[in-house]
Amino acid sequence: MGLCDIEEIRSVLGRHGFHFSKSLGQNFLTDASVPARIAAESGAEQYKNAVEIGPGMGCLTAELCGRAERVVSVELDRALLPVLDETLAAFDNVEVVQGDVLALDLAALVREKFGGAEAVACANLPYYITTPALSALLDCGAFRRITVMVQREVAQRICAEPGSAAYSAFSIYVQYRAAAEILFDVPAECFTPRPKVDSAVLRLTPLTEPPVKVGNEKQMFALVRAAFNMRRKTLVNALGPVIGGEMGKEEIAALLESVGLDARIRGERLSIADYARLSDAIDSKREGR
Ligand code: SAM
Repeated sequence: MGLCDIEEIRSVLGRHGFHFSKSLGQNFLTDASVPARIAAESGAEQYKNAVEIGPGMGCLTAELCGRAERVVSVELDRALLPVLDETLAAFDNVEVVQGDVLALDLAALVREKFGGAEAVACANLPYYITTPALSALLDCGAFRRITVMVQREVAQRICAEPGSAAYSAFSIYVQYRAAAEILFDVPAECFTPRPKVDSAVLRLTPLTEPPVKVGNEKQMFALVRAAFNMRRKTLVNALGPVIGGEMGKEEIAALLESVGLDARIRGERLSIADYARLSDAIDSKREGR
């Protein structure tokens, strides 16, 4: 069955009376080379167990089934269950779980379905849940590799370097937990219905140790959020909401200089290591009081 063939898609979905839902981010792939390439890059062969989010009609699921020993695919839309029964009938190594990926305990799912064995995650993610879904996939600690298609701009933001326009608090959040790289771009013409934006396939390889050591992770991320909430302000001013209650501007400027940062610098220029040093310097200053 050609699960990316537009005539086949129309025919199968028509027979099941299925209509695409914009609010569920349903844009299905129509270029068979894309799911094949995502599955090949996913590590499903190496790690043997794969969790997929949002199978849609099952084009990526089928590719994963051909490579992994076991595939568990989480689909929110009940209307797709009978479609998937038909399109995945040839595979005996797949289980479709109906549910909202954001409401699931992913670590428990991996333990339950794969007996705690290693697993990878893979998806053509619905745009509307990109950030919370990526956070859930990273925070659950259950995956050796996460290969996902997202909006190209989001992929660029995630992989961005300090000082670039795309660098954001989310770049730091992800890069603190995983090595991130863009594998390839996927133009809007490769989907039905055609989305307004282009996509890219992103690979996240969760780190066993964070890239930098920091005494108080929570505080470091509070500094990051404060800096990017006011990205046009210098760091001295932007950090006021976090440490302004205990330090005046001059003290904050001196603190920045003590860790080798210009007092007029903006938060968007700081690396993760800079934020870690700044957070540790705040702690040392408190201890010295
Ligand atoms: N994998 C298919 C493909 O590549 O053609 C479909 C991808 S489509 C972009 C996203 C899929 O995610 C849809 O099937 C949609 O119903 C499903 N979905 C949307 N929100 C979801 C959620 N919160 N949890 C699980 N699946 C969801």
